[in-house]
Amino acid sequence: MSNDLIYLDHHATTPVDPVVLEAMLPYFTEVYGNAASTDHIFGTKAYNAVENARSQIARAIDASPEEIIFTSGATESNNLALKGVAESYKKKGNHIITCVTEHPAVLDTCKELERNGFDVTYLPVNHQGIIDLDLLKNSIRNNTILITIMAANNEIGVLAPLIKIGQLARDNDIFFHTDATQAIGYVPISVDKMNIDLLSISGHKIYGPKGVGALYVRKISPRVKLHEQIHGGGHERGMRSGTHNVPGIVGLGEAMRIAVKLLPSEVKRLTKLRDKLFADLKTELENIELNGHETYRLPNNLNIYLPKIDARSLIVQLNNRVALSTGSACSTAKVIPSHVISALNLEQNRASNSIRLGLGRFTTVHELSSVAKVVSEQVKNIINISFV
Ligand code: PMP
Repeated sequence: MSNDLIYLDHHATTPVDPVVLEAMLPYFTEVYGNAASTDHIFGTKAYNAVENARSQIARAIDASPEEIIFTSGATESNNLALKGVAESYKKKGNHIITCVTEHPAVLDTCKELERNGFDVTYLPVNHQGIIDLDLLKNSIRNNTILITIMAANNEIGVLAPLIKIGQLARDNDIFFHTDATQAIGYVPISVDKMNIDLLSISGHKIYGPKGVGALYVRKISPRVKLHEQIHGGGHERGMRSGTHNVPGIVGLGEAMRIAVKLLPSEVKRLTKLRDKLFADLKTELENIELNGHETYRLPNNLNIYLPKIDARSLIVQLNNRVALSTGSACSTAKVIPSHVISALNLEQNRASNSIRLGLGRFTTVHELSSVAKVVSEQVKNIINISFV
């Protein structure tokens, strides 16, 4: 990879922090025991490492270690949360509330639940990508068992009012799940203060390894019962069987610890960098607009509408200079307009004329100094070509 290539796709994935990697390495070769084989020292050491990571994650979100279930990532965590609650509480009710701008790991799981007899309300969003809390309140029925609303959107970075949603859910005796994949490290989370009952986490979005994640499942007041989705040896209190990915789990724990420790300084630093980048782009390209909300957004997120510019062509042109994205990474295999930007209900072409820039922990002022220039040069090139 060229050294000059600037990586601005941190919502898709992040590099592993060298401190995280260092913590993981011994668990590949030296401490290779099975964390469930605690009859000997090899297994005990692996077990202790898993439990240490569990505590690190719990501490980061104000939970207890027994409330953390390890998974393969946020896709699995979301599946386990939604299907697990749905199956356990189907006698109580079959109604679930979510939002149209959720990640496919939630939306497609909801579709599957609909095929299995559940009823799902998909809340719309306003032009800024925000849900209407009155509409949420009015959507609650006697048979509603779960509200699932993401903490931060992976495309436009919009933040959800977690405290208000949590309160509403608690007042109505409904479980509240939030997909916090993109919010960890940027939004301080307290599952207790926010009345969150289930929360999904992914390692690779927080400078940890890929293929590992966690689900917080509230144990008391109220206790959430989850019907397991993967059957086997009864690991993770029976909720998720399968031999522990010890190095991955160690990496996830360490990544969570660092993410929370750096949160205040990173929020400040990234907000400043991001705002400067947007101001620079706006100086060069006057008619651009922000997608999402100006202030209720992740500090590392810029999603920009470039009228009349085909985002795919722009990204191809930028390929050797800046790595960014048109939508979420998960939908780039299929070229379909972003469901999130389409849900904002603005210009018809807005989704195909928008780019997402995601800043990260290792993004520097120096790197960003050239981005506005490089991007605007290419945009102007495309405009000139289309007028020839
Ligand atoms: N939820 C959100 C909001 C995400 O951004 C992603 C990753 N694109 C996921 C869930 C899926 O996470 P994972 O890759 O860990 O399965």
